Amino acid sequence: MSSPSPLLVVGSVGLDTVETRVGKRADVLGGAASYFSVAASFLAPVRLTGIVGTDFPEAHTKLFEAHAVDLAGLERVPGKTFRWSGVYAKDFSTRTTLDTQLNVFSDFRPKLPGAWTDSPYVFLANIDPALQFSVLEQTEKAGKKPKFVACDTMNFWIEGKRPDLLKLLQRVDMLLLNDEEARQLSGEANLPAAARAIRALGPRAVVIKRGDAGALLFHEGGVFAAPAFPIENVVDPTGAGDSFGGGFMGWIARQGDTSPATIRTAMIMGSVLASFSVEDFSLERFKRLDLGQIRERFAAFADLVHFEKIKL
Ligand code: AMP
Repeated sequence: MSSPSPLLVVGSVGLDTVETRVGKRADVLGGAASYFSVAASFLAPVRLTGIVGTDFPEAHTKLFEAHAVDLAGLERVPGKTFRWSGVYAKDFSTRTTLDTQLNVFSDFRPKLPGAWTDSPYVFLANIDPALQFSVLEQTEKAGKKPKFVACDTMNFWIEGKRPDLLKLLQRVDMLLLNDEEARQLSGEANLPAAARAIRALGPRAVVIKRGDAGALLFHEGGVFAAPAFPIENVVDPTGAGDSFGGGFMGWIARQGDTSPATIRTAMIMGSVLASFSVEDFSLERFKRLDLGQIRERFAAFADLVHFEKIKL
């Protein structure tokens, strides 16, 4: 196996206040890029681009460093760090956002450190599609087209920034979004039809995340379904989607190829990392995770979905 390629991520790094049936945590490490980076770091070297304020605790910086996440692109500016707060229904079926304070994130203009414009694998976490586009422009201006670009988005941008999002989609290889967002973006209620319509907008692959119902991949190799690993003690689902993205892209960067077979395995690796993420608040579970546990759960996944072909 060749050595893992660098994986660039751009997105939010913040402080979350989260309440679930298990308890409440205030001002803990959150943000899409945080979950993505640490999840992916088990598989490939990660380059993180984001912004935090002067109140961002040193302990969080240390966590990234402990996972060898390169922070050369993490700006620290005067002001307060992005904050988000949410509460989950008892059965985890819904989440209500209580508060979002953009703080220093509102003036975020991603700037890639010079050496990072050659990143072969890029993940544009859920931010303004115009900013996601600006990251691709920076790599292209340097004459370095990434090998594989994936992006995430959300209802807010689908409604409010559709032209920018459509322009971005022409330039990305894969879009990750949840089922409601896929319906909203495509205008199709049926998910395979929605995926077909989204692929016609540019991305050759679409991953539709369905929470504890797993994820569906639509690409040139057809359709592939990964269940969510059944976890009995869910503590906090925040960041599951971003951890999925981290496991997915981490596997691709590790393998250095984007064949349909590797992308299918990446779907399972995404589900593995997401399943660990929900077992504790914030990024706590990742602090006590290692490759051995990842290997074990991957094997348990293979058992979970294994069945024999039959002759009828
Ligand atoms: P997920 O559970 O995958 O939707 O991701 C939750 C993470 O997204 C939390 O850690 C939040 O800090 C972060 N987040 C929430 N709202 C936003 C937003 N508007 N822009 C960027 N990140 C956000």
